[in-house]
Amino acid sequence: MTCNHENIESVLDSLGKYQGGGQRHACAGCAYLLGGEHKSKGTPFNPGAVDELQNSQGGAQRHKNAYEAYKLGYET
Ligand SMILES: [Zn+2]
Repeated sequence: MTCNHENIESVLDSLGKYQGGGQRHACAGCAYLLGGEHKSKGTPFNPGAVDELQNSQGGAQRHKNAYEAYKLGYET
């Protein structure tokens, strides 16, 4: 399954590549959006939540660090 995160592609491009760890296939685009959603809802910072996201291997979010993306979304 591939997401379309063209609107945040420049954000995703700023993230480092990440090849290791269990979350490498989680979609960094969705992780970024999840971080922002948690922030706006007042949900405590919880990067482990990205493990529940769908996997994605296509587009700008490919092989990006989903934890980093979540953190960025939460802090932006
Ligand atoms: Zn996604």
